[in-house]
Amino acid sequence: GSIELRELLLSRIKDVADYPKAGVVFKDITPLLADAEAFGALTDALVDLCVRHRVTKVVGLEARGFILGAPVAVRANVGFVPVRKAGKLPGATLGQAYELEYGTAEIEIHADALTPGDRVLVIDDVLATGGTAEASLQLVRRAGGEVAGLAVLLELGFLNGRERLAAELKDAPLEAL
Ligand code: AMP
Repeated sequence: GSIELRELLLSRIKDVADYPKAGVVFKDITPLLADAEAFGALTDALVDLCVRHRVTKVVGLEARGFILGAPVAVRANVGFVPVRKAGKLPGATLGQAYELEYGTAEIEIHADALTPGDRVLVIDDVLATGGTAEASLQLVRRAGGEVAGLAVLLELGFLNGRERLAAELKDAPLEAL
């Protein structure tokens, strides 16, 4: 994206120290969501990615990936598919466990949510360690989709998520807006 877009988006993300626990700087995107110009510009940039990469489905990661991804899917005229924390989707699911700092987590996708040949853009707000994104790319592939790309609003570069994702992304782009 352009430098102006980056500056606009960054100006609407608030750092909250020691949330949800001591030592973490939480990136609060609610000021961006509340600003029509910034949310609109972000949506436009993500729709551009859908067009450029011939995307046929948007996958949003719970929960902020739902907020960012849904308007993109509507504007790009493609379907929206949620990836949820385990136990929330009512139908037959595929699950993927991944490592957290302490313990493990699991996310799920409806097994029939993608059709073979679907080109999927995965959207989330923040890329931190990359664990969530890595598991979601694995789910997309297991559900029969092709990974067209991963798009995040913000990448925390010092956590090296990009390196962790390299093998799973293969040639698909990681766009941090
Ligand atoms: P990770 O799996 O470590 O890449 O963590 C990514 C997920 O956790 C995303 O869904 C983010 O919404 C959330 N997350 C991680 N770190 C932060 C942070 N510093 N601020 C806001 N959200 C975060």
